[in-house]
Amino acid sequence: MRTNSSVNNTVFHTAIVGAGASGLFCAGSFDAPKIVLDASQKPAQKVSVSGGGKCNFSNKFISAAQYMSQNKHFCKSALAAFKSSDFTNLLDEQHIPWQEREEGQLFAYNATDIVHFLIKRARQHHSTLALGTQVLDIQPQANEFLLSTSAGYVHARNVVLACGGLSYPQLGASSFGTTIARRLKLNLVEQRPVLCGLSFPKSLRPLCLALTGNSLPVRIRQGKHLFEGPLLFTHEGISGPVVLRLSLFWENNLPIEIDFLPGKSATEIIGQHKNSVRTLSSIFPPLLPGKIAPILLSSCDTPLAHATRVQLKAAANILHHFQFYAAGTSGYTKAEATAGGIDTRELNPVTLEARRIPGLFAIGELTDVTGNLGGFNLHWAWASAAAAAQALSKRY
Ligand SMILES: Cc1cc2nc3c(=O)[nH]c(=O)nc-3n(C[C@H](O)[C@H](O)[C@H](O)COP(=O)(O)OP(=O)(O)OC[C@H]3O[C@@H](n4cnc5c(N)ncnc54)[C@H](O)[C@@H]3O)c2cc1C
Repeated sequence: MRTNSSVNNTVFHTAIVGAGASGLFCAGSFDAPKIVLDASQKPAQKVSVSGGGKCNFSNKFISAAQYMSQNKHFCKSALAAFKSSDFTNLLDEQHIPWQEREEGQLFAYNATDIVHFLIKRARQHHSTLALGTQVLDIQPQANEFLLSTSAGYVHARNVVLACGGLSYPQLGASSFGTTIARRLKLNLVEQRPVLCGLSFPKSLRPLCLALTGNSLPVRIRQGKHLFEGPLLFTHEGISGPVVLRLSLFWENNLPIEIDFLPGKSATEIIGQHKNSVRTLSSIFPPLLPGKIAPILLSSCDTPLAHATRVQLKAAANILHHFQFYAAGTSGYTKAEATAGGIDTRELNPVTLEARRIPGLFAIGELTDVTGNLGGFNLHWAWASAAAAAQALSKRY
């Protein structure tokens, strides 16, 4: 960061709080002298690790239906104005390679390419990056805002809150966004970790400990929400893409049901081995790989020739209708996103500006807009940033 005095003497057009996905993209999307402040020394840390290091930066099938919010319509305007092709066009201009994978997911080959692109573009558009500079408070004043930071005061005519949600505190996530929103009397929607694993109740812990690391395709359901795809057992419960998707809707008072043989019939498979000397659990691999069948069926496992109807029925029931109440989520340290945040009714959907505080904007994960797994959260970071930048480019 520049020295305190030089920052003190400057009134920036805009101060952006957070040099993550949305903050950097906003900084690079309009031309005005601005400062981008981040508590961390490393910008866009989540982008660096996103998509397993390949950055699932968007999705070909962007639509409001892929987002959760108390106001489902809020995100429509920004999403309509900024498409996935708008982002890929920018990557193409910079010769940054990307690829489309299943379900329209758009990935870079290396997340670092996206981080460098965001930083370079922000710098090309008159941005001063103040890294290692924590914003501590924001005071609206007559015609500007006064920001107190760990490196002194910053004056700016506009402020963009781009400080993200609570997920992955190990990568710099903080509660500053909601703390300052509360102080400025903006309504909040309660936050919770999503796109994360779910934990088993204590009674089932031995089961997941025994199965940690095993994975298989399943169908998983809670209430009206049903997902099909890979599930992974972890030492505390379950994870993997289907579980991450379910976590967006998870309710603690409803049972979760897993079908470990989606599209197959355990009764038919058992029928094919009638009177066999093999044990019940030994006939299911490779459909149920590793130790999954012996552990899941331990309560009713027996040589098929001696199996009673009750045991066979119990086995089919466990494999198709495994029910449990999740004890909780794997929490913010493992959640890819935070649901909730600044209530979108506080914001103009076209500009992302606070209705009651002119000049204050909120973008990205800090807002109560949460995307599904598959590139939707980063796309919201870009789209909301572009909407705010468009409005800021017209401000004095
Ligand atoms: C492991 C992981 C993998 C993910 N993979 C994907 C993926 O492949 N595709 C996808 O779409 N989404 C993915 N996400 C989600 C995506 O990264 C986020 O939704 C996105 O980064 C949100 O952007 P943002 O700008 O709102 O917040 P962030 O990118 O989190 O940026 C917020 C910034 O604010 C800074 N900050 C916080 N408090 C202060 C303060 N007081 N002062 C100054 N600075 C502050 C932080 O240091 C941070 O740099 C992933 C998330 C995680 C954790």
